[in-house]
Amino acid sequence: MASPILNAFLPATALVPLKQHAGPQARCVVSAGDVVKEGSLLGKADHSGSANIHSPIPGVIREVRQLRTVAGVAVEAVEIALEGRFERLGKREERYVWTSMNRNDIVQTIRDKGVVSMDAEARPLIELIQGSGASAIVLCGLESEPFLRTEASLLRAKTKEVFEGLGIIAKLLAPQGSYICIDDSEGDLPAHLAPHIAALKTQAELVVLEARYPQDLPRQLLSVIHRDRKPLAAKDALILSPSTAFAVYEAVVLARPLVERFVTVAGGAIKHPAVLKARIGTSIGDLIEECGGFLDQPSKLILGGPLRGYPVYDLDAPITKSTPAVLALSPEETGRSRVEPCIRCGRCRDVCPERLDPSEIQRNLGAGRRKEAEILGLRDCTLCGACGFICPSQLPLVEIFDTGLRTLGGEG
Ligand code: SF4
Ligand code: SF4
Repeated sequence: MASPILNAFLPATALVPLKQHAGPQARCVVSAGDVVKEGSLLGKADHSGSANIHSPIPGVIREVRQLRTVAGVAVEAVEIALEGRFERLGKREERYVWTSMNRNDIVQTIRDKGVVSMDAEARPLIELIQGSGASAIVLCGLESEPFLRTEASLLRAKTKEVFEGLGIIAKLLAPQGSYICIDDSEGDLPAHLAPHIAALKTQAELVVLEARYPQDLPRQLLSVIHRDRKPLAAKDALILSPSTAFAVYEAVVLARPLVERFVTVAGGAIKHPAVLKARIGTSIGDLIEECGGFLDQPSKLILGGPLRGYPVYDLDAPITKSTPAVLALSPEETGRSRVEPCIRCGRCRDVCPERLDPSEIQRNLGAGRRKEAEILGLRDCTLCGACGFICPSQLPLVEIFDTGLRTLGGEG
């Protein structure tokens, strides 16, 4: 269920990685001692797959240093100490009328402002749109994993802005239609969205799906969206989140670079879980403090969701363009100390979106029978994490399959 969105305080220090996107790191264009404004360029995208990086706060560059991301990648990061004032404060925000902008100007604006798909892939949005021959836009307001509230909350709280962003993307892609997907746990959200859907210039349809995880994987999502009585094919669909549409709105209508994002801060060890609008580069420690701190010693900290997120051990780690959540899970929620043998309950098979039998695969891998695991479909495993999350025996299925897949490598 959606939550109200709170504005996070400005961080006293922001640590901004120069790689927050799929491709190569952006080229650093600042040095220690430089004074920057909110939105100043820190890193310039010189390559395909790369996106511009901007300063989330006004201040002074303390240093440019190496940082190891939660995914284990070494990147350069710019540390900024908050100083000075926000130029926008107290001023009426200027709005640009995108309906009278030409296509090239919109494309250039979205590229300049560093907009990426606000998901784990974080692909530069313009590359995604230009490389797509899609005839439909799918606005996916489903939460990808348990605990997350980011997309549904945004869809409810910033409906007008999200739909304006969708309208801008539609102007670039010229689709035949749009599909807005939400799950059935969102109460009156369908009624709330109805006038916005009706006002879209292209044909649009609301698709309400049963709440389950993972529910945002393209193959599963598209299999339940029908056009002309057939499921929508992957080549025909551009799937975007409300966060991405909102970033497009801010870039084009308000001329704002991508320096903020919406983040769920949740888990049983957080005192006051919330969805925050926070500056990129804010430390997860600051965001947890903002939510009242820890209720209890967390058993696990995760950047992202419990199924596909990254464990994090450093409260100074910053959020990036692709961070949907910061989770602090209680020992009851992780239960990692109580790993038991498989009881053959079959729950993992019921939830596997690839229709695999995770229990059989793990049994074969455990016995060193890699070939059998491969025959059972190990190569089709997307490491979505649903089986491991549901397993009452707490078997670390995703880790087992990840290792198994790496062992298989290209052989076979
Ligand atoms: S959910 Fe866990 S315990 Fe149940 S069959 Fe699957 S692996 Fe075994
Ligand atoms: S991690 Fe693999 S086996 Fe487990 S549910 Fe996802 S696709 Fe199926």
